[in-house]
Amino acid sequence: MKFVKPFQHFLKYQLEAILDFMYPNLCPSCGLKTDSDQDLFCLKCRLMTTPTDLHHYDKNEFTRHFDGRVNIAAGAALYYYVSGGITASMIELIKYRDRKDLAFQLGINYGLKLKDSIHFHDCELIVPVPLHPLRLKERGYNQSEFFAKGLSESMGIDLQAQNMIRTSHTHSQTSKDRQQRIQNIQGVFQLVNPQVFNKRHILLVDDVLTTGATLESCALEIQRAEPASIRMATIAMGY
Ligand SMILES: [Zn+2]
Repeated sequence: MKFVKPFQHFLKYQLEAILDFMYPNLCPSCGLKTDSDQDLFCLKCRLMTTPTDLHHYDKNEFTRHFDGRVNIAAGAALYYYVSGGITASMIELIKYRDRKDLAFQLGINYGLKLKDSIHFHDCELIVPVPLHPLRLKERGYNQSEFFAKGLSESMGIDLQAQNMIRTSHTHSQTSKDRQQRIQNIQGVFQLVNPQVFNKRHILLVDDVLTTGATLESCALEIQRAEPASIRMATIAMGY
């Protein structure tokens, strides 16, 4: 039965071709078919994103946002955020178009990088910035939690999404300056059980770093639990 193996091979090839035709991997940014199933975006869009590579440095432009405000051991973002760019449309999809799968996939991708970084590899608990229950109900999901889930999966680190809660519903931060944002968000987060974070290496996760007011407020609350360290990671950050 010499022909069996080539025949099986042929069948497999046919099946893959049919599946690829029915369920092609589409680039979430431009909608075109991607060239491989390993990459989330097509080559053209990948070339237009700007990875920060800040996870290679313990002191960098991400951590500088928190200098003299809250003590963090490391901080990094996957991409730079350029208004009108690919990363901006990606964040738009994640926050407002139900593309939580995209947040999760970016978490998987970034986790593979962070796992190999000396500044992140020993994190023990991943904590997403929580949404207020009203906002959660409105959106249906917490985008930062899906990013955190992806990180948790590829880094092999536990996700702890229930221990920090958001106690008040802040209004849009976009029209406020940094000082106003900080005042607006102070005391908004609360730990349910501080013991859970005590002496642990915490990786605090959000979608975008803008002024840093939200992450700072969360980190200050986590600090009260006396963790071993606090690191931060986001999908994107401004230049
Ligand atoms: Zn594309």
